[in-house]
Amino acid sequence: MTSLEHGNGQMNEAAGDARAAELAHKLGLVRQRIESAAAAAGRTEQPRLIVVTKFHPAADVRRLAALGVEDVGENRDQEAASKSAELSGLDVRWHFIGQLQSNKAKSVAKYAASVQSVDRPQLVEALAKAVVREQDATGRSDLQCFIQVNLDDDAGAHRGGANPADVEVLAEKIEMAEGLVLSGLMAVAPLGADPHPAFERLAKISETLRAVHPAATGISAGMSQDLEAAVKFGATHLRIGSDILGSRPAVR
Ligand SMILES: *Cc1c(COP(=O)(O)O)cnc(C)c1O
Repeated sequence: MTSLEHGNGQMNEAAGDARAAELAHKLGLVRQRIESAAAAAGRTEQPRLIVVTKFHPAADVRRLAALGVEDVGENRDQEAASKSAELSGLDVRWHFIGQLQSNKAKSVAKYAASVQSVDRPQLVEALAKAVVREQDATGRSDLQCFIQVNLDDDAGAHRGGANPADVEVLAEKIEMAEGLVLSGLMAVAPLGADPHPAFERLAKISETLRAVHPAATGISAGMSQDLEAAVKFGATHLRIGSDILGSRPAVR
């Protein structure tokens, strides 16, 4: 299939079937990797798979849902808002995993089950306000919030997130906010480095957090390249994109 057919969502039925088969195959491989990693780590509870569908069309989300996927992740509000609106009847949960400007909180509150990239107090305030408003209008459930932690000590190269020292203040603020639930932590392993020490560190930060907030058990870690390391160090949520959907453009 050409990238054009794939990108424009106007596929004929035969091409659509081929894409569905491709997704089924790659999803199966990733599920096997997760099971093996969980078995190797002696874990009885499987982490939750969030399939990251950014850059890929709404039609792919529909195919994934037909394959049993219940959770999808997006990192840009404009794209997520339009896909979730197009698929409003579909039974999937939308997770927001990208850097988020406070002025987008209102939009995100309309479709997101979780925001996994909460990294500063102003964003907590904006999300709480937006969710309460949405709850008054539509009765939506509380928004699950993951605090994104920066695991990269090289400040110039860091991939977003709050400093570990600031996690407790943010956690407290989320706990106090109406409409928000503190779910746990999220992190991205530093680029080009062994992910094991980073995820081990994340596990320790999670332990510290849970000592004060026992219900905040979530650890969202692990992408296509490093899911095994994340499972080893207790990830409860994995965010997998390219190994299921294929490569996406590097920039847009
Ligand atoms: C894109 C993205 C992912 C998925 O990464 P893959 O390498 O494609 O599996 C996970 N987490 C975040 C925050 C992302 O932006």
